[in-house]
Amino acid sequence: MRDIKYLVIHCTATPRNTSIASIKRYWKNVLGWKNPGYHFIIERDGNVENLLSVDKVSNGVRGYNSKSIHVSYIGGQYSDDRTFEQKQAIETILTVLKSFCPNAEIKGHRDFPNVKKACPQFNVIEEYEHL
Ligand SMILES: [Zn+2]
Repeated sequence: MRDIKYLVIHCTATPRNTSIASIKRYWKNVLGWKNPGYHFIIERDGNVENLLSVDKVSNGVRGYNSKSIHVSYIGGQYSDDRTFEQKQAIETILTVLKSFCPNAEIKGHRDFPNVKKACPQFNVIEEYEHL
């Protein structure tokens, strides 16, 4: 297992009905990434897709990826539009990941230095400080 310091929450910043397949195509064809942007992506109905083994490095926050596991919900284009099911799924996956990496800090993408994005459109540190 890698030395994980951060469990990072993102939004895809796409329309709510965006498919995982189209997001993966964008990473590969437009950005030219070999690995996905996130390890886990959460659909509107709360289904969690594992896109990459947590042992591998994904592309969530430049400069911090080697020490991070990235989780994103589909949505967040303009605001925090998570569904009830997505909120539950985020909490569940963070609980599981915390059990494997008890010392990891839970943060939002925007909580890293020099990030100009609103990603993930809500205050992660506050919402999950109980975990
Ligand atoms: Zn992000």
